Amino acid sequence: MLDNKRPNPKKPDSDDEKKRQEQARRQMRFSISYLIVGMLVLWLFQEFILTPLVVQATEISYSEFKQKLTEGQIVKVTIRDTSIVGEMKNPDPKATPASVPFDTVANPQSDPKLIEQLQAANVAFSFGRPPSPIGSFLFAYILPLVLLGGFWYLMYRRSGAGGGGIGAIFGVGKSKATEVKAEDVGVTYKDVGGADEAIAELQEIIQFLKTPEQFAKLGGRIPKGVLLVGPPGTGKTLLAKATAGEAGTSFFETSGSEFVEMFVGVGAARVRDLFEQARKAAPAIVFIDEIDAIGQSRAGAVRFGGNDEREQTLNQLLAEIDGFQTTATAPVIIMAATNRPEVLDPALLRAGRFDRQITVGNPDLAGRLQILKIHSQSIKLAPDFDWERAARMTPGFSGADIANIMNESALLAARRNADAVALADFEAAIERVVAGLEKRSRVMNEAERKTVAYHESGHALVAALVPHGDPVSKISIVPRTRGALGYTMQMPTEDRYLLTQDELQDRIAVMLGGRAAEKIVCNQISTGASDDILRATELARRMVTEFGMSEKLGSVRYAGQQLQYLGGAVEDSGNVSQDTRQVIDGEVQRFVTEQYERAQGLLRAHRDALEKLTQQLLQQETVDGGAVKRALEETLSHS
Ligand code: ADP
Ligand code: MG
Ligand code: ZN
Repeated sequence: MLDNKRPNPKKPDSDDEKKRQEQARRQMRFSISYLIVGMLVLWLFQEFILTPLVVQATEISYSEFKQKLTEGQIVKVTIRDTSIVGEMKNPDPKATPASVPFDTVANPQSDPKLIEQLQAANVAFSFGRPPSPIGSFLFAYILPLVLLGGFWYLMYRRSGAGGGGIGAIFGVGKSKATEVKAEDVGVTYKDVGGADEAIAELQEIIQFLKTPEQFAKLGGRIPKGVLLVGPPGTGKTLLAKATAGEAGTSFFETSGSEFVEMFVGVGAARVRDLFEQARKAAPAIVFIDEIDAIGQSRAGAVRFGGNDEREQTLNQLLAEIDGFQTTATAPVIIMAATNRPEVLDPALLRAGRFDRQITVGNPDLAGRLQILKIHSQSIKLAPDFDWERAARMTPGFSGADIANIMNESALLAARRNADAVALADFEAAIERVVAGLEKRSRVMNEAERKTVAYHESGHALVAALVPHGDPVSKISIVPRTRGALGYTMQMPTEDRYLLTQDELQDRIAVMLGGRAAEKIVCNQISTGASDDILRATELARRMVTEFGMSEKLGSVRYAGQQLQYLGGAVEDSGNVSQDTRQVIDGEVQRFVTEQYERAQGLLRAHRDALEKLTQQLLQQETVDGGAVKRALEETLSHS
């Protein structure tokens, strides 16, 4: 929906990416300050610890040495190739220690009388090897450097990973995957509702794991990878676990983000380790949740720090998938889940790797019913709880949403001290989840309440009057914390997958019904309709640019690539000419305006019903769908 052209449509979109950049910056800052401090420490070490420790000897000339020797000052000497070192009496006789080391540059070979003189002076002497330059170099430079480096590494990991600490340094290349033994998985397909097709496909995988010989017998290649694809909260993780539970194999669970590390090579090492473990435990399932963290397309990715690492990790993963043989005796199957299949690298998806793709969508009516039953097992429901109706109330909800609502309704029932959860609680829970908590303390002045009541009545009446409007189940003018001042709840009678142009137009009319009512009653419009306008405009734009419903523009797609599962955000394709843009904008405006006028017309024709419904709403605050029908029928028979 962005209008400006961008040369590179990829952007560091996720919070993850930002976090990673922040982390990289932090580690960089740390490394630089560490380098400075480290150099300082090294210098201090050399200057004040090593130097006084090792080279304390007094340097004297050879003639001085000879003189001291004849004076009997020399205690003992070691003769080396190019020097004579040893101990001489302290020049200050009262000082301790009595003898101090000395060091003389000399060429002992050129002084043949030296030995005689030493013997004459009764000095103990020995011959020594030259001190190993390598040894002292190691001691003076390499050792402290290694120590500093090790310490830096430790701190570096801490500063980046935000934890991990000393333990992490020893387990860097180790996979963080946790192996879950089959008997501990604890979920089976009985715990997954509304995913029958996915389960049917996964059953086949289980067969591969259980009786690989049977498939290998005919020479077929057992599939290696299964990719679960679908919107968040639809039970992908749950399905993977349940598959392990059903198959009775070891299950290695890990998440894509666990392979994303600062150091190039660490993620790859983890991948290697993970597959090694899995092979040992075969038959096994390796499950990589949220695989998009490592599997992102390499082409066109923004080059930030850590990208090399991701690439290496991905390559290692590809190599592992290709490398291991799913032998008949030790099958290993990789499962992965993502809600962004469009960003995955094509190399991952090619045949022979993740060659099975299983789509897990939001559940349909029957599926929702199953999920409701699964998640109410531990919940006490009223005997007359209408499952069917409850399932109808939750179109478009994911399994996770339904689980959440079921739980909320139990909490709500407990709050009103009921001994069972009634359908009303369930309904309240939906409202709570969808619209935010009721906030009775928020006081609206009378004029505002009236505007909101007309507005909501407008939505409801238009919904009842257009041919394809979803029936209204409830209207309320009780403000909610999430900002809505009132709302009209429509309950679709069935799940819809295809919508016609007429139906879409009706939807836009319903969305604008609120503002239309305000306009014809008060001849005034308010800010309350901004969300309605937004949704209407978005829908109209999609009709024009995606569904090809504008005659002027024809069946041509003008929208960019759509991010399938995340909110349906459409990226600008960038290849629409300026002129076409103007036509698109004009068409969108026409689509919206036409429906706005249509809604106004409908409400003008049923002005009495609007009045009646609004009055009832002002009185009761909340009315059900029947009130809309009655208002229409009564006023019709009057006129
Ligand atoms: P995803 O991985 O697809 O984002 P999860 O598997 O993590 O979703 O689902 C979260 C929770 O929602 C599950 O633990 C389960 O309680 C509930 N849930 C989701 N889908 C289903 C389903 N189809 N059947 C039963 N429960 C579900
Ligand atoms: Mg998940
Ligand atoms: Zn509205």
